[in-house]
Amino acid sequence: MSSLNSAERLCLELAWQAFGAGSVPVGAVVLNQTGEVVATGRSRMYEPSAPPPELANSLLAHAEVNALVALDPHLRYEDHTLVTALEPCPLCLGALAMSTVGRLVYLGADPYGGAVGLLSDTPHTARVPVQVVGPRDDAVGLLVSALHVACYLRRNPDGAVVRVHRDLRPDLISIAHNLLAASAMSGRGRDRRTGTSTAATVASGCDGVGTTAAW
Ligand SMILES: [Zn+2]
Repeated sequence: MSSLNSAERLCLELAWQAFGAGSVPVGAVVLNQTGEVVATGRSRMYEPSAPPPELANSLLAHAEVNALVALDPHLRYEDHTLVTALEPCPLCLGALAMSTVGRLVYLGADPYGGAVGLLSDTPHTARVPVQVVGPRDDAVGLLVSALHVACYLRRNPDGAVVRVHRDLRPDLISIAHNLLAASAMSGRGRDRRTGTSTAATVASGCDGVGTTAAW
């Protein structure tokens, strides 16, 4: 496995937690200028509640939003970094810009909802141009992207997320199938804290998500 710094590792841990709780597998952290974690968040989209000030039970309850919402609105964060597991969507890019955070690092590409290509300046956001780093061109990047696909393969295999990936990133479909197959095998990769396998935790996160949405 490729090397991960502590912030990236924390993002992945939060993503696992989101999976296990039935939400989308994304975690995010905000780092200050010295690299200390000053805020954390994970997707809580399909969970009934969240610890304040995070959002839950909403299509807006994304990991990045749930990390950024903790920042003091009276301060500016040009020298801070948002680290997130998956390429951010338009909502989270907007939240990043409006929070004045000046740097973005993400691990895995999201050809369906990822929107870093949409970054543009308004007179407001141009005051804090965002430096973007990602996606990782290694196993970590592939794993994060494929986990996202695996969740939707279980949830809605004929939906738009899977369809887009079949067209654009069939390699991720293949990896996601392998992850789901691994999740069906008992006793492998057991999590020391929960006693469940990592792959099973990932798969169980998909089970808690409804199947009626369009994606
Ligand atoms: Zn988002």
